[in-house]
Amino acid sequence: MSDYVIAPPVIPAVPVQGSSQMFPVRRIFCVGRNYAEHAIEMGSDPTREPPFYFTKPADAVLINGADMPYPPMSKDLHHEMELVVAIGTGGSDIAEADALKHVWGYCAGLDMTRRDLQNEAKKTGRPWDMGKGFDFSAPMGALRRAGDGFDPSRGRIELKVNGTVRQTSDLSRMIWSVPEIIANLSRLVRLAPGDLIMTGTPEGVAAVQRGDLLEGFVEGVGEVRCRIV
Ligand code: MN
Repeated sequence: MSDYVIAPPVIPAVPVQGSSQMFPVRRIFCVGRNYAEHAIEMGSDPTREPPFYFTKPADAVLINGADMPYPPMSKDLHHEMELVVAIGTGGSDIAEADALKHVWGYCAGLDMTRRDLQNEAKKTGRPWDMGKGFDFSAPMGALRRAGDGFDPSRGRIELKVNGTVRQTSDLSRMIWSVPEIIANLSRLVRLAPGDLIMTGTPEGVAAVQRGDLLEGFVEGVGEVRCRIV
């Protein structure tokens, strides 16, 4: 044990379905613009440019069902419903054909975004960090273990706000598939156990207000739920 000068930070973690055990989170990588219709609604060209990434701090994780405080310095908090991949075995230069063997499990997650700050950053060529990586910006559902024939290449993905469907699509509409993302990202950084990858959102992103109830669902994976307070 190291002798730290302050108490070491608590390790953020995501619950596991049907278990009292937790999955410890190391880093959160997020894929930008991975569904064509969302790229179009954000004013971008949906052609198959190489995937790009941004990150959130691990302690941005909000446990499923917890209230999400409306973040400071924003008047335009948006939901982005996403499939999240949890890495169980690390590696660099992972081949596409081996990529799914590195996955421990999957969950439904929300890439909550201060869109006004992100848009300002885009306009001025500044980093997206304060638009994307703020406190409680990553509500995560419980993890479903990989295997049992689950295939992340298809399945309905949906988000309801106050019971009304706001986002609905299918995982098959991703521009870059889960194996392609893992292979590509592992060429940029050495992936490690505990890394989460948020795989991008379909169209229908919009603002939420205090009091709104967000209920997301990925077919074959599970749910994510939070209320904005
Ligand atoms: Mn996103």
